[in-house]
Amino acid sequence: MERVSRHYTFRLPRFYVEKILTNDENDPLWDLVLPGEQEIADTADERWDAYQLETRAVNHPRWIQKYRYEALIRTTDYCSGLCRYCYLKNREVIPGVLSHADIDDMFDQMEARAESHLLRELILSGGDPLAVSASLIAHFADRLARINRTRSHNITVSIHTREPVWYPQRISQSAALQAALAKLEPSSYILHVVHPREVTGELLACIELLADLTPRRVPLIMTQHPLFRTINDDASVITQMYDRLDSGRITVKPYYLIHPFPDGTLPKHRLTLPESQRILRDLASAPGTRVPLLTVPTPMGKCVIGPYERLVDEGGYYVLHTKDGVPVQYAIGARYDPQETRPAIPVVSLPIHP
Ligand code: SF4
Repeated sequence: MERVSRHYTFRLPRFYVEKILTNDENDPLWDLVLPGEQEIADTADERWDAYQLETRAVNHPRWIQKYRYEALIRTTDYCSGLCRYCYLKNREVIPGVLSHADIDDMFDQMEARAESHLLRELILSGGDPLAVSASLIAHFADRLARINRTRSHNITVSIHTREPVWYPQRISQSAALQAALAKLEPSSYILHVVHPREVTGELLACIELLADLTPRRVPLIMTQHPLFRTINDDASVITQMYDRLDSGRITVKPYYLIHPFPDGTLPKHRLTLPESQRILRDLASAPGTRVPLLTVPTPMGKCVIGPYERLVDEGGYYVLHTKDGVPVQYAIGARYDPQETRPAIPVVSLPIHP
């Protein structure tokens, strides 16, 4: 563990240890949080953020834009706990935290560029955006309100966070952060939760708190999570998690079921694409509001797979399509292939359907 943590930082909040983990060496959740030998085999040569639109609305290292209508902002590389499967842990993530000057630079560019008129949503991601200072979120909210006053449609904000799982007190005990989030009025919070035991009473209280901050426009609360062999590769475990998340006063909608990233994910946790699809099938015969979308992350964007879509082996790869119709060769195989870097997952020159 010490050897691994010299390569990849180790951080685990006391709350997670005391409230979620059990004193049992066979508890599979330990594997997600303690450094393990298998991480050393991760070649870390993937560059998920490298493939972006040529016509980005903003040129800034923290601005990631794969779609015309949506951009993701890497607010920080900090999370209160570090998932051992994090695909960003030593790659192109920019260390430190977004500054006020970074925010001004991004919004100045947006105000000046025609491309920004296509933007519908900004995703605050990280690391964890709820781990940054309240003053930054408040400043972001001010600049967003300013640009929205000049647009025919609002650019909305979605916050992707695992902080309510790792350390909900950061939110529940910070009046300043709550005031900044109330000012920002995000349209949605996407919670990263992977197992039913991660749904603590504190997490449910945090969901209610976040929803109550903006009564004028209550945010959509959704959950998304990667699939991992032996952790949550079973529809009954996932359903139990969805039920617990939805047991409070606020409705929590399942959003993405994420096929494991080909790197970052420990080899013992990886699934094949047909295995992930089988889990989706087991979840699919439920009311539509309870069914997630199975998405395959690729450097070119997300590819959504239907429960009964035919996966055709084209000679060692499947041809998948991103949300924008960009065809992607996706290598077949349960195990990480070091060759499966971005150049080895080229965009196939097939016609793109409008
Ligand atoms: S919460 Fe997300 S960004 Fe943070 S360590 Fe986990 S996977 Fe990485």
